Amino acid sequence: MKPHSIKFKITCWYTLILTLVFAAVLGGVFISSEFYSEDMIKAELQDEVKDLQEEMLRYPEHFPRQDYVSYYDDGVLLSIYDEEFNFINGVLPDSFSLEIPFQESEIQTVQTGQDSWFILDEKISLPDGSDLWIRGIHSFSSIVLMIQRLKLLITFVLPLLILFTAFMGFRLVQRSLHPVSVITNTVNEITDSSDLSLRLPESGIKDEFFHLTETFNKMLTHLEQQFLREQEFSSDAAHELRTPVSIILSHCEYSLAELEMSPEVRKEFLCIQAKALQMSQLVSHLLNIARAESTGFHPSFEEVDLEILAESAADELAGKAAQKEIRIEIQNYLKPPVIQGNTELLFRLFINLIDNGIQYGRTGGYIKIFLEQRGKNACIRVSDDGIGIPEENLDKIWNRFYRSDKSRSDSAGFGLGLFIVKYIVRLHRGTIAVESEVGRGTSFILTLPITPPAS
Ligand code: ADP
Repeated sequence: MKPHSIKFKITCWYTLILTLVFAAVLGGVFISSEFYSEDMIKAELQDEVKDLQEEMLRYPEHFPRQDYVSYYDDGVLLSIYDEEFNFINGVLPDSFSLEIPFQESEIQTVQTGQDSWFILDEKISLPDGSDLWIRGIHSFSSIVLMIQRLKLLITFVLPLLILFTAFMGFRLVQRSLHPVSVITNTVNEITDSSDLSLRLPESGIKDEFFHLTETFNKMLTHLEQQFLREQEFSSDAAHELRTPVSIILSHCEYSLAELEMSPEVRKEFLCIQAKALQMSQLVSHLLNIARAESTGFHPSFEEVDLEILAESAADELAGKAAQKEIRIEIQNYLKPPVIQGNTELLFRLFINLIDNGIQYGRTGGYIKIFLEQRGKNACIRVSDDGIGIPEENLDKIWNRFYRSDKSRSDSAGFGLGLFIVKYIVRLHRGTIAVESEVGRGTSFILTLPITPPAS
């Protein structure tokens, strides 16, 4: 349970409130039971002493005889004394001291050994003119025992009770907030896979989460439609452009090869041909992206040797690298350097990264490719010592048609290379990150699972 999660906070709050309420209620019970019981015993004592007092006044002839007078009633022990406080009759607790001084109509609290007692003394004057004392004694050790039991209960049962309710409450909150986890997981899945056709599962109960899910799904449907419209547009545009661009190219080729023209006109034709070639490349990129993004596109995965792929890509771009005297080094610490992937796409990935390294590298510089294994992932690092990327542009380089330096309109790139790289990484369920320092160079760090999880 995370300390900032709503589940954690709700559980903490109600456990705290519960503890305070329990403590207040039990504290109240504890205090009032102590007073209430003491008061009860004292009242009992007063009643019994008063009863004996009345009986003795009514039937003075009975009191010396044990069988006529009840000296024990409702837990109260009664005894009678003469004017000199000599014991005449009655019952006393075992080993009860006779030395305790008499105090008329006042309840004393006396402690003898382990036991505690309430004592009430009353003086009565008999018709014959003599005075007698009645002593009532009631133990209140039983109350002390009860209080001790209550304390034990509070000490042991209460924490257990609080723990139990906290646990049950947590389970309840967890169950109630379960739809939030489902929503979060599905939204993460949509983000990771970029699959806008996915929808949040709707529960049968029409609660707040049901409406939230419904709203989310409506938004996803809307987004998917927008996205499909946009895809359709670029795919249609690419298709429509393909034929005229091919016609321009073939006319250029024919004219340059067959027609007689002045050097100035030839120069113009060559320029048109170069731009038409660029356009043709752009169109084929767009068509590739449209194909890859279409829902039915599932590239086949096979065993791919990353070292061989990196070397082939480096070989293919060796001429371009040589023009800038850039050396390409490959270091492999991934043994065996084989992962499950699509050869064609991973080759494109290396081509795009190395091509960028050359394009934005410095003359006489280097491109280093490291392959290594971390756990169940193959890690690829493509580093160069080129111009670098300003920090504020690092987030944007993955966007379609983004080029950090728009003024380099003559460069061959269309701003699609990294978009395609990211797309390929996502298809292989991997991750990609960039580290760069202006003037020092750029590193692209990729992790690709050796065996991608089944989608
Ligand atoms: P482009 O076709 O322009 O190369 P990319 O998508 O490959 O498009 O790259 C987008 C932008 O990111 C580039 O225009 C460039 O500014 C920057 N970039 C990419 N790779 C590098 C690199 N190795 N060094 C410096 N900048 C880079």
